[in-house]
Amino acid sequence: MSSLLLLDPASRPAPAFLQGGPKKLLIDGAWVPAQSGKTLETVDPTTEQVLTSVALAGYEDVDLAVAAARRAFEDPSWSAITPHRRSRILLQIADVMEANAQELATLDSLDMGGTIGLTRWMIDHSVDVIRHYAGWPTKHYGRTAPSDPSQFSYTLRQPLGVVAGITAWNGPLLQAAWKLGPALATGNTLILKPAQTSPLSVLRLGELLEETDLPRGVVNIITGDGRTAGEAVITHPGVNKVSFTGSTAVGKHILESSTGNLKRVTLELGGKSPNIIFADADLKAAAVASATGFLAGAGQGCVAGTRIFVEESVREEFAGLLREEMATWTVGDPFHPGTRMGPLASRQHFERVSSYFDIAREEGATVRVGGELEGNTGLFVSPTLIDDVTNDMRVAQEEIFGPVAALMSFSDEAEVIRAANDTEYGLASAVWTKDLARAHRVAAALEAGTVWVNTYGDMSAGILPFGGFKQSGIGREHGMDGLDAFTETKTVMVQF
Ligand code: NAP
Ligand code: MG
Repeated sequence: MSSLLLLDPASRPAPAFLQGGPKKLLIDGAWVPAQSGKTLETVDPTTEQVLTSVALAGYEDVDLAVAAARRAFEDPSWSAITPHRRSRILLQIADVMEANAQELATLDSLDMGGTIGLTRWMIDHSVDVIRHYAGWPTKHYGRTAPSDPSQFSYTLRQPLGVVAGITAWNGPLLQAAWKLGPALATGNTLILKPAQTSPLSVLRLGELLEETDLPRGVVNIITGDGRTAGEAVITHPGVNKVSFTGSTAVGKHILESSTGNLKRVTLELGGKSPNIIFADADLKAAAVASATGFLAGAGQGCVAGTRIFVEESVREEFAGLLREEMATWTVGDPFHPGTRMGPLASRQHFERVSSYFDIAREEGATVRVGGELEGNTGLFVSPTLIDDVTNDMRVAQEEIFGPVAALMSFSDEAEVIRAANDTEYGLASAVWTKDLARAHRVAAALEAGTVWVNTYGDMSAGILPFGGFKQSGIGREHGMDGLDAFTETKTVMVQF
């Protein structure tokens, strides 16, 4: 039975941002309440106390935000600026985020329970992402095509118009930055809709944008729940693209809802990622990274390596090393210096994750390490390894989104590739081996948007494409693919 690292409530941070009544919507550069006057509370999952409330937007608010974003898109103060100026504005955004990084991280830790170390990493990563995109306005251009000598033909890369970024609660500011960087670098305007579980850091970013030269209306922020505010965004005929990060179920619904005006849709969805350890691997390094791979963020990560396949001959040795490593993942208050894993982000999510312990036992699997903490432990779950699992069990197929991994073994390469790919998801994967040829063979065979070799969970800040095969998504964020996805290609043919 693990004990929780808790803090005296008086020593927990209380940012000034939380004072002063309900947070408003950012529409056309002004902070306004929802027209209905409705608000929604946001809760600190560590204490289950209300932090503050935010506006609960409806269709009428979204309609105003879309109109503001359209006006800003057409206004020369945004549409007719030089590429260098656009770069400078993005650099200003990165600078204000960097200058306020600790506060933004604190808001994320309070709002969704990630450790302050993790949320600070996410803010620093977001700053790198925005700086990466600040380089693109001066470098992203069309092509000159071979033409009939009497003609000249070329392509232009042009912005789509009004883009909506709808994001999940596990990486609140990070996911917003993944939308904001490429959307603004390519000249679009943006409506951000953060998750109701953790809207605060994105709202604070909205305030910080006022310190930059970004014209009003270029970035608008709508808060509220998915069924109301989110639904209004995805059905609005004035929205040209939805860039979505969230669950596969909602992603499918967004794709269906996009047909009204054929919105461009990018979907970054869930995963159940395989992490394959061959006998010749550095087992200690694999155990350390595998634990981080499914415990970082209390397992609430889309790329979490939750299906661990270990070669039969080293199964016991690896399992021992993994359990040893898992024991160092102390659970507690996200602001306690000894904490490696905070609470789950909401009570509803906690109930869902906890239900999988019974599901595992009913299916005949063994919950070996961790499992439920004893006593009244709020929304905390300890690191959990499920053993005696077969790949067809629900715990091996469904995204649990908590600190829970299924351990399975294999005896040859072909078998493990088949098992690893036997999932509806395809977001991430990893292979651990010292055999270079095998590493590349397996990397090529895995049905996943990212394959890590002898590492797990590394993220480039904008450089490499990120996204999913199969039901883990459509399209890619980052890299050239991600940038192109925020533009239309126009062909121009000129007759002399
Ligand atoms: P979710 O329920 O799909 O919610 C994601 C966002 O969609 C939230 O802002 C939500 O709003 C909104 N939403 C819900 N219903 C909607 C609707 N009908 N129309 C428009 N918007 C709607 O996902 P989640 O539970 O927050 O996040 C966990 C999931 O995200 C996991 O599956 C995880 O794997 C995935 N994820 C993927 C990536 C990736 O890059 N591939 C990264 C992180 C997370 P409310 O929450 O306010 O209702
Ligand atoms: Mg919250």
